[in-house]
Amino acid sequence: GETLLLVDAGRGVIQRLAAAGVFPGMLGAVLITHLHSDHITDLNDVITTRWIMSPQPNPLMIYGPVGMKKVVDGIMMMLGSDIQYRLDHHDDLNDAPAVVVVEVSPADVFTVGEVSVRVGATDHRPCGPTVGFRVEGADATVVLGGDGIPCDTLDELCAGADGYVQTVLRDDLVKLVPLPRFQDILDYHSTVEQAAQTATRAGVGTLVLTHYVPGIAPGQEDEWRALAAAHFAGEIVLGDDLTSVTITRP
Ligand SMILES: [Zn+2]
Ligand SMILES: [Zn+2]
Repeated sequence: GETLLLVDAGRGVIQRLAAAGVFPGMLGAVLITHLHSDHITDLNDVITTRWIMSPQPNPLMIYGPVGMKKVVDGIMMMLGSDIQYRLDHHDDLNDAPAVVVVEVSPADVFTVGEVSVRVGATDHRPCGPTVGFRVEGADATVVLGGDGIPCDTLDELCAGADGYVQTVLRDDLVKLVPLPRFQDILDYHSTVEQAAQTATRAGVGTLVLTHYVPGIAPGQEDEWRALAAAHFAGEIVLGDDLTSVTITRP
């Protein structure tokens, strides 16, 4: 069996899923690390597309931090007119989208399909509460750290994981842009080096960097990789959109 999880639902997520060969109806669950708009802005599209393209009612499980229910309630309100149009139009569509929201807290454990998921606290203050997910399957354990700076609870969540996916920025490059709102992001995101240090402390196998700020300029890939490699001896993957990584337990 295959268990498909979507972790966060930012801009264009349906197009990226499609390009990866995944139709939203196939998702076992959506896991949301935090409620910043760049992580939830297209959750509404996941809900609608799964609903309208599933031949039978196909409830969507959404796991997220406290505050998730309020966000999904708001999405459902926003979709109200559309839902009614479609119910009126399609004779074979008789139920509104079924969405089950579970608000999770650190140390919670839940099961999706064939994997077990443990929740850990992350530090992305003043945004909060925020969480990371440790996904344990038969072949590997992978942690999705979401946004945030290094912290003890993230180290603990990552301990001994085979893979660790972390959103990162380059503080040296961000500091070159003299805009206060850009400088503000420095204090609540891991740098490439910090992500690598977390990976080393936790003894993970593969570090996957993603959600780069700024975007990696063509030709600078080796530079980004080298910054991480100075602090982490394991495999380093630059996780551009649609990157596929196979991670297995050694
Ligand atoms: Zn964020
Ligand atoms: Zn973000």
